[in-house]
Amino acid sequence: MDKTESLRVIKEEVIGLKDSPLYKERIENGVFPVIGEGNHDARVMFVGEAPGAREAATGRPFCGRAGNILTECLFSIGFRREDAYITNIVKDRPPKNRDPRPEEIEIYSPFLDRQINIIKPEILVPLGRFSAEYIMRKFGLEKEIEPITVMHGRCFEARADFGELKITPIMHPAVAVHDPRKRELLESGFHSLKDNLKQ
Ligand code: URA
Repeated sequence: MDKTESLRVIKEEVIGLKDSPLYKERIENGVFPVIGEGNHDARVMFVGEAPGAREAATGRPFCGRAGNILTECLFSIGFRREDAYITNIVKDRPPKNRDPRPEEIEIYSPFLDRQINIIKPEILVPLGRFSAEYIMRKFGLEKEIEPITVMHGRCFEARADFGELKITPIMHPAVAVHDPRKRELLESGFHSLKDNLKQ
């Protein structure tokens, strides 16, 4: 099965994920799950938290205000959004944008694990503390877990099923929606990402 076909299978499985506590919400609200989008051969893969209202309405990750900031931060380091692969841990929108619950992360994370093995990025970039903690644990880096502001822009070496993998956690772009003064700090994480990719 090629990458596109393997990702399509994941999409079908998530669409039919009736066991998810967020499935009922999705059907009642007439919205979509958000699987991921971008280059299937991307060197950089971003992993957000969960879809917001705009994402659930369109089925596309990071297409609202936080998404615009993500696109602009990529532009600031000379990257195009479409060159990356962008997804979330949780594929359905939690009501009122509340934080994802552990049981939701548990039910959706196997899909993320499979997406990582399909895309095989050089750098995995968890956005925000929920995905950073999940990804650090998944790759045996639990001892290195610190507040996201401390891990922001750092480069952790890991070993994936497909070979070496770098992990560079970055603060969630929504921080700059809530507090524009954080924009510079956020962008600094993207500059570190660019440096880490060269190493
Ligand atoms: N925030 C996220 O974590 N993911 C999205 O797709 C949009 C906003």
